[in-house]
Amino acid sequence: MKRAEKFFIQYLRDNNLKVTKERLMLLDELFESTGHLDADSLLFQLRHQGKRVSRATIYRTLDLLVQCGLARKSRLGREHYVYERVTPGKRHDHMVCTGCGKIIEFYDSDLDERQREVCMEHGFRPTFYSLQIQGLCAECQDSE
Ligand SMILES: [Zn+2]
Ligand SMILES: [Zn+2]
Repeated sequence: MKRAEKFFIQYLRDNNLKVTKERLMLLDELFESTGHLDADSLLFQLRHQGKRVSRATIYRTLDLLVQCGLARKSRLGREHYVYERVTPGKRHDHMVCTGCGKIIEFYDSDLDERQREVCMEHGFRPTFYSLQIQGLCAECQDSE
């Protein structure tokens, strides 16, 4: 069994939640994809594969995956929530193109370090962090 699956099953049991095949299937689906998925495209993807799962189950399961730390939920763009798998030790931030919706992932260790320093200067202990830059990608700038 995969590590993430083991972890998720344990989390569900610890919280007296049912381990269902739909929940495990959603975990699989999220972990097999490398990109950013929203609940509706996940629903579409599964229906396309002939798998039956309700929208409510998808939302509920994605939230559980976020709560147990296996997935990350970000609001990219205005009203758009996307989910992606969490890879331990590999953080990244997002640039979101407001023209075509493209998401670019980036990581900058200097930026990371600087944030830690700024928090320390304020005696602040960070628990959650999110950085998103909105703008236009190279292609969209070209077609302006
Ligand atoms: Zn663009
Ligand atoms: Zn991402």
